[in-house]
Amino acid sequence: MASIELRNIRKSFGAVNVIKGVDLEVRKGEFMVFVGPSGCGKSTLLRLISGLEDITSGEMLFDGKVVNALTPSKRGIAMVFQSYALYPHMTVYENMAFGLKLEKGNSKEAIRERVEKAADMLQIRQYLDRLPKQLSGGQRQRVAIGRAITRDPKVFLFDEPLSNLDAALRVATRIEIAKLHEGMHDVTMIYVTHDQVEAMTLADRICVLRDGLVEQVGTPMELYEKPDSIFVAGFIGSPK
Ligand code: ADP
Ligand code: MG
Repeated sequence: MASIELRNIRKSFGAVNVIKGVDLEVRKGEFMVFVGPSGCGKSTLLRLISGLEDITSGEMLFDGKVVNALTPSKRGIAMVFQSYALYPHMTVYENMAFGLKLEKGNSKEAIRERVEKAADMLQIRQYLDRLPKQLSGGQRQRVAIGRAITRDPKVFLFDEPLSNLDAALRVATRIEIAKLHEGMHDVTMIYVTHDQVEAMTLADRICVLRDGLVEQVGTPMELYEKPDSIFVAGFIGSPK
């Protein structure tokens, strides 16, 4: 079953067309990776899916329902950014609890339980009382992921979450994200990267974007063995 369906999605900023008619189905529980050159519209497409940005035309469906008009919090989607976006003056605990406190009807105990569970999943429980500046880049990124987990989303969107980390931490955090996906039944992930190894190791399927359009979608093996174009081959690394 499709978790997310994009039907002829377009986005312009003023006179500039950035997303030019994207059709795509992301299945429930799937790990979908978006790759493509800088400026091709990967971040914009994620922001459209999350609801942070309004689509110009086309239809977007979640679980079979049109959600064009729904605000981000109503979509059951959490987004993790490259730059962590943590509040510097709040502790790790407060950062992770912030969104839950804004939702109505969460008791203090329920919030603590959810934050601690997420912290355990990411092995950051011992840092809950620290400020972001007292953490390494990798730990901060885990807090950002943990904050997303506390919202119990059906869909996670990641925009190049590892690109600010050094090579060793990138690998460790990548493995953490893969485990997270395995451990959460039916949770869909869409992950933007320009790192070919990340794409090949994480993806159930890869969507190659080019200049605001989908160039090809397939499993890592399909794209590697049967790229539709030299462009795709160039991104996936096969010799065509
Ligand atoms: P990617 O993430 O693939 O590098 P983006 O989605 O960030 O690409 O950007 C795609 C294009 O849209 C770029 O040319 C960028 O300059 C343009 N763009 C993105 N956001 C805006 C905006 N808010 N206003 C105007 N142009 C934008
Ligand atoms: Mg981007």
